[in-house]
Amino acid sequence: MKKTIVEDCLMLDVNKLNKDRLFHKGQAWRGTVEWSGGSSIGYEGHPDHDGRYDLLIILSYRFQEEDIKIPVPIVSTPCHVGGKRFWFLCPGARCLRRVGKLYKPLDRRLFLCRHCHDLSYESRQSWDSRCEANILGDALEIAGILDPRSGSTPKQQFRQASRVLRYLFKKGMK
Ligand SMILES: [Zn+2]
Repeated sequence: MKKTIVEDCLMLDVNKLNKDRLFHKGQAWRGTVEWSGGSSIGYEGHPDHDGRYDLLIILSYRFQEEDIKIPVPIVSTPCHVGGKRFWFLCPGARCLRRVGKLYKPLDRRLFLCRHCHDLSYESRQSWDSRCEANILGDALEIAGILDPRSGSTPKQQFRQASRVLRYLFKKGMK
């Protein structure tokens, strides 16, 4: 079965949530995140008084008639250039991976990391076919077929095209 791809999910980016540097203020706040498709969720930020995390973000939204509230811990690591870099701890059962992004496929309940949802990138799935297309384009160009400046005669073009086809055929045999 084809995997769900990252590009088909609602995505939360820890750096975008922190764009107003709210994570540094140490006080509670509320916000909303909206996506271009019309989906939106609310969230509240809270300092973590237990001190285990830097803070907790509580995501709240409706999914299939159910009100969902999930706490997502936020932690930080120091940056080389000074300051802090923030991370979500994935709220998936037994996951707690430190990630910059959480995803929710439209048909699933929770925002989790890429691993928990077993997501892949569209660019990775289509890599092989794009690669083939590039090879074909390069081969045709090398043969002068796509390049009008090559000035090849029809007979030369025919020979070049045969060469390209033989090349592609050999590649396909591997
Ligand atoms: Zn996870």
